[in-house]
Amino acid sequence: NAAFDVLIIGGGPIGLACALEAKRAGLTYVIIEKGCVVNSLFNYPLYMTFFSTSERLEIGSVPFVSVNPKPTRPEALEYYRRVATSQELNIRLFEEVQQVIPNANEYTVITSKRSYHTRHVIIATGFYDIPNLLNIPGENLPKVTHYYKDPHFYATQHVVVIGAHNSAVDAALETYRKGAHVTMVIRDAEIGARVKYWVKPDIENRIKEGSIKTYYHSSVAAIRPQEVDLITPAGTVTIPNDFVIAMTGYQPNFTLLEKAGIRLSNDDKKHPAYNPLTMETNMPRIYLAGVVCGGMDTHVWFIENSRDHADKIIAHIKNYV
Ligand code: FAD
Repeated sequence: NAAFDVLIIGGGPIGLACALEAKRAGLTYVIIEKGCVVNSLFNYPLYMTFFSTSERLEIGSVPFVSVNPKPTRPEALEYYRRVATSQELNIRLFEEVQQVIPNANEYTVITSKRSYHTRHVIIATGFYDIPNLLNIPGENLPKVTHYYKDPHFYATQHVVVIGAHNSAVDAALETYRKGAHVTMVIRDAEIGARVKYWVKPDIENRIKEGSIKTYYHSSVAAIRPQEVDLITPAGTVTIPNDFVIAMTGYQPNFTLLEKAGIRLSNDDKKHPAYNPLTMETNMPRIYLAGVVCGGMDTHVWFIENSRDHADKIIAHIKNYV
């Protein structure tokens, strides 16, 4: 049973940033990551381009060099992997944290492989592991995905893309350009306001010219192997369908937070309780870092505005130790 000053759950960009700060402060630390290094980024669409410029994705003041101002997924994987390896961060991969248990003046952290003792815990688990489900018949069919990867797969096929934000728009445009017959199903009246400003005119013009058929104020009611039922303002419509790409967003692992004793707001936002000055939760010496802080508001935090959680947390921990 290893003992550490700090145990960091999640090896995403912000978990790595916390480890760099902990190392600089001379604390003993370990990162426990359930997948590979920056697992969420690894699982992003293959050809995605970040909306942030590379210097805003930097952690620990290590320069991020990219060919264009906004880096691609492979460039980001290179960067964060090189930061982790060149700084020799202590990171244990393919090991999942299952529970954080208070235990006198420290915490016991149970993982899929062993247990650890640590005085402080930083939860930097992001939100990309748990998709928001549609809860409709047929959602479990193998042709339905909540994780879009590669447009080539969909060439010549009838594809329904559910959603109106960046992920949905990217999936619709990419699959359309590889020869899929794309239909977007959008709950509201228009494409989301936060869609990348350089992509928005592209999707709006493809919709206007009819290249991508779009149903607004609509939802998918049922999915069958060769068709889907839509509820539209004009009534129920059934269209031919081979694949459904459900870009309905994701949510943090609230069970892990609640089991650790962290309070969530009583509304549907489920905001976790923490002090924004120190990032400490209502549980002493358990901190939150990165996009997990937003609860269901997963768009509020991203890399560039949550990198500094690492500094706040380690500064606070130094006062404790
Ligand atoms: P994550 O990167 O999600 O890292 C969390 C890590 O915790 C994961 O590796 C996960 O495997 C691990 N984990 C989870 N649970 C456990 C457990 N129980 N035990 C062990 N490990 C666990 N942000 C930007 O700033 N700029 C962008 O351009 C941008 N583009 C995006 C594009 C897409 C398609 C998506 C989905 C998000 C984008 N974001 C972007 C948001 C981005 O995901 C986050 O800003 C970033 O990943 C946050 O880092 P994080 O470390 O908080 O969380």
